Amino acid sequence: MDLRDSPEEASFRQEARSWLEANLPEGWGRPGFEKPRTPAEEVAFLRQWQRALYDGGWAGLDWPAEYGGRGIGIVESLIYNEEYTRARGPNQISMSVGTSLVGPTLIAEGAEWQKERFLQPILKGEEVWCQGFSEPNAGSDLASLRTRGEVVGDEIVVNGQKTWTSFAQQADWCILVVRSDPEAARHKGLSFLLVDMKSPGISIRPLIEMTGHQWFNEVFFDDVRVPVENVVGEIGKGWDIVMTTLAVERGSSSQHARLAADVELLIEAAKRSPRGEGKTAADDPLVRQKLAAFASEAMIMRMSVYRNAQVLEETGVPGPEGSTLKVFWSELDQRVKNAALDILGPSAMVPEGDPSAVDDGYWAYEMLWSRAATIYAGTSEVQRNIISTRVLGLPR
Ligand SMILES: Cc1cc2nc3c(=O)[nH]c(=O)nc-3n(C[C@H](O)[C@H](O)[C@H](O)COP(=O)(O)OP(=O)(O)OC[C@H]3O[C@@H](n4cnc5c(N)ncnc54)[C@H](O)[C@@H]3O)c2cc1C
Repeated sequence: MDLRDSPEEASFRQEARSWLEANLPEGWGRPGFEKPRTPAEEVAFLRQWQRALYDGGWAGLDWPAEYGGRGIGIVESLIYNEEYTRARGPNQISMSVGTSLVGPTLIAEGAEWQKERFLQPILKGEEVWCQGFSEPNAGSDLASLRTRGEVVGDEIVVNGQKTWTSFAQQADWCILVVRSDPEAARHKGLSFLLVDMKSPGISIRPLIEMTGHQWFNEVFFDDVRVPVENVVGEIGKGWDIVMTTLAVERGSSSQHARLAADVELLIEAAKRSPRGEGKTAADDPLVRQKLAAFASEAMIMRMSVYRNAQVLEETGVPGPEGSTLKVFWSELDQRVKNAALDILGPSAMVPEGDPSAVDDGYWAYEMLWSRAATIYAGTSEVQRNIISTRVLGLPR
């Protein structure tokens, strides 16, 4: 496998690089740039930035052109993601439910009117989405969910609770999985709904994360009425749609670029971190070996990502191999962030805003945030179950 860019890919890479250089938000990444601090400020900022990406032709690169995308290949999308991370563009996390999960799910499974109504507003940053899957007693075992969706005439009446719903407070819409037939077997009788978050009967209670940020929420549904036409696929066949969404989520493939950029940032920080008389952490042979190992692992991950992309281009659907990547990057991410605190010392634990914080508290925040990586989008244990049975063919 040749990982060098073809001439066309190289010119695409240059196009992306030049556009990002010219169009990143003014002052972004430079000292003094007033970063959005609260989730509400962040979403407002990212809505604007998403619009700029859309106007520049850099949103929904692999979505069909008829829905506002650019209709280009997966490899070009990877190249764009690499350039975006290299330029350290804004982390688009609050947009990601819409762009990474809802869009691809609707493109694959949505009714024509749903594609026409919802896809462009996602790409333009006009509508933010949240994902209402997990419940207090249904996470890894999602099929045990209990939120009820009773079909009454041409509406579905929803009652129940979701939890860990990221960005529910900022979201305009929600992809919601409900039990529409309580008599049916666990994986049957579920329905996948598109719910307007302004519907009467929805209440949201924020949860604070250990990073101090508040992205998660509990969401309560009390006689919330959803038109039957907002069902994706068929009533009672929601599990099939859930599988599509989860496959897209686990196969998401730009993490290698982020990790490689973080390893480079750590190398730079080690060169600035004092270690004894006139030396820095980067002079320590043990630190050098660790950093070199991380850089190699990030490179291995890039190769795996490109190999998976080839499979995806051939088959059109992300396969269970996405689980190997998910386990690899999430655990590597944690190792890199833990090592950063060891290498950079106590001031790496000082949070952002304090003048003594290394890289304005980036490492302190990232070490805490990286704990989540082995939980969301399927825990490491669950991914290993998938790898053992569906990739390696081991018995249950
Ligand atoms: C940062 C973050 C954002 C999230 N955002 C959202 C969101 O927007 N929307 C949403 O719906 N959900 C969201 N989640 C929830 C996430 O999907 C769940 O946390 C995840 O599915 C695990 O479920 P759980 O927390 O209920 O843990 P459980 O499923 O209860 O698991 C507890 C432990 O048991 C292990 N375990 C469970 N089953 C097995 C098994 N069969 N074999 C071996 N071990 C097993 C798990 O690995 C874990 O260690 C988010 C989570 C995080 C961390």
